[in-house]
Amino acid sequence: MTSARTRERLVDRLKRQGIADETVLDRIRNVPRHLFVDEALASRAYEDTALPIGQGQTISQPFIVARMTEALIAGGRPEKVLEIGTGCGYQTAVLSPLCGTIYSIERIGAIQRRARRLLRELDIYNVRFKHGDGWKGWPTHAPYDGILVTAAPPNLPEVLLEQLAPGGRLVIPVGPAGRQTLVAYTHQGGQFECEDLGAVSFVPLLQGRT
Ligand code: SAH
Repeated sequence: MTSARTRERLVDRLKRQGIADETVLDRIRNVPRHLFVDEALASRAYEDTALPIGQGQTISQPFIVARMTEALIAGGRPEKVLEIGTGCGYQTAVLSPLCGTIYSIERIGAIQRRARRLLRELDIYNVRFKHGDGWKGWPTHAPYDGILVTAAPPNLPEVLLEQLAPGGRLVIPVGPAGRQTLVAYTHQGGQFECEDLGAVSFVPLLQGRT
C-alpha cells in the first residue's frame, strides 16, 4: 500500500493533472506521506485526497501541495520561506530541499510538536518552528522570498504582502468555506501581480493559538 508502485501511480496522476516540475514530482515520490497520517489511514496515504490528522485539521491533498510548491518556486529557488499552518509537516517536508530556510508557524501546539519530531526523524533540519498565530506573519525574519499559507482567511491579510521581498511570491487560499480560490501574488517592482490558480478547499485560518 505504501510501495514504490503506489507512489508512482500518484506521481503519474499529478503529471496528468498538469504538475510538470520534476523536482516537485520527485518530492511527492520520495516523501513518505504514510508517516504523516494515523496508522489506520496509512493505506490511503498515496491517494490524491486530504485526510484527517486530528484536532479537526487535515493533511492537504498531494495535488494541492504539488501545485502550491510549484507556484512558490516558479521564479527560482527561494532562500527564505514563511509557511503559515505547519499542520502535520507534509508540505514542509516536500518543500524543504527546494529552498533555503523555512520559518513555519502553527497555532495548535500539539500538532506542531508532532511535526517537529517527524521532520527531525526524516533528517530535515532547515525548518525553524514557531507556535503562534500566523495572521501577522513572522516580522522578525521578514522579508521572505516565498510565503505559503495552508489555511484560508476570508480575505487577504495585507500584512503578508508587506513581508514579501522584491521578486518574492505569496501563495495563499482566500475566501469563505465553499468559495475559496488559490492565489499567487508576485512582488514586482513595488507592485503585486496576481494569478488565480483555481478553486480549492482548505480549513479556515483561525485567530489565536491553542
Ligand atoms: N500544511 C499542512 C496542512 C495544514 S492544515 C499539510 O502539509 O498537510 C492547516 C493548518 O493551519 C492546521 O494545522 C491549522 O491548525 C493551522 N492554522 C490555522 N490557522 C492558523 C493561524 N492563524 N496560524 C497558524 N496556523 C494556523
